[in-house]
Amino acid sequence: MEKFTWNNAKTMTRYTEKDIDSLSFSSRLDIQTRTTWGAPIIWEGMFDPYIYDAIHKNLRSSVALTVFAVGRYLDAYLWTFLNSSEHHFMLGLPVKYYVFTDMPEKLPNIKLAPQRTMKVIHVERHSRWQDISMMRMKSIADIIESDIRQHCTHVFCFDVDQVFTGRFGSEALGDSVALLHAHFYRLPVKRFTYDHNPKSKAYMETGDFYYHAAVFGGSWESVKAMTEACYQSIMEDKENKVEALWHDESHLNKYLWLHKPSKVLSPEYCWDTSIGSPSEIRVKRLLWAPKKYGELRVP
Ligand code: UDP
Ligand code: MN
Repeated sequence: MEKFTWNNAKTMTRYTEKDIDSLSFSSRLDIQTRTTWGAPIIWEGMFDPYIYDAIHKNLRSSVALTVFAVGRYLDAYLWTFLNSSEHHFMLGLPVKYYVFTDMPEKLPNIKLAPQRTMKVIHVERHSRWQDISMMRMKSIADIIESDIRQHCTHVFCFDVDQVFTGRFGSEALGDSVALLHAHFYRLPVKRFTYDHNPKSKAYMETGDFYYHAAVFGGSWESVKAMTEACYQSIMEDKENKVEALWHDESHLNKYLWLHKPSKVLSPEYCWDTSIGSPSEIRVKRLLWAPKKYGELRVP
């Protein structure tokens, strides 16, 4: 790959973002604010939320949020997730929630703000939690094709076991957007838990970052390509009777190594409080909810 310099930063990447010029890369000297291929890594202090929102209102950006609440995850997490999202996610832009569940009748009653709507999609409950997690890729690709592409410019895909606690706004929008995993962003690449089994399609020796599959997004075109490719790889692994170490996350990491994201979100955008509060994490925008695998996951 071409080496990154400040002079070629704009030409070597496939930026379609018109907001990139408003970022202040030097406002944070304590952490890395650009990838080697020139994509911004978004940290508090680098962006002006008012400028961002104005640009995206002007562009008429609209955002689909996909979230799955299957089995016991519905009662345990969905209300808190959606209620907090109403207070922090993409305020000021049109948002359409796509909630996937096996029990549509049990959906909590959430009063949505104006310009925010919800569609509920009935999905089957796979018997293994690994399949519930992995098969999200197929459902997301399908709903983008059948619905989202007509209504929204961007898509963000979330795990449900999290809660918004701060602004998660238009600064996070981009062509393809990935999140630095809170447990790995300070570790060297050799410590990343990529899939190291050459039989899996997710196999990779090395990479750029360890991305967290609990949050990813982008334009609907990019997210469709991303989720379709991950689904294909997952199905090829099934035919070959292998399963990647961290399921859909391993496949997502492989895809994002081959197709570099145009924007990277710092772990402010999905923080685990059990790590503590390092000084570089100035704002916690989304927090991991307590994981109660024993009670919640199907056997
Ligand atoms: N999920 C679900 N029901 C399940 C297992 C998973 O709805 O029984 C969905 C849910 O959105 C969850 C996501 O799949 O957040 C990923 O699973 P989980 O959060 O357990 O994975 P982890 O974050 O621990 O890797
Ligand atoms: Mn999760």
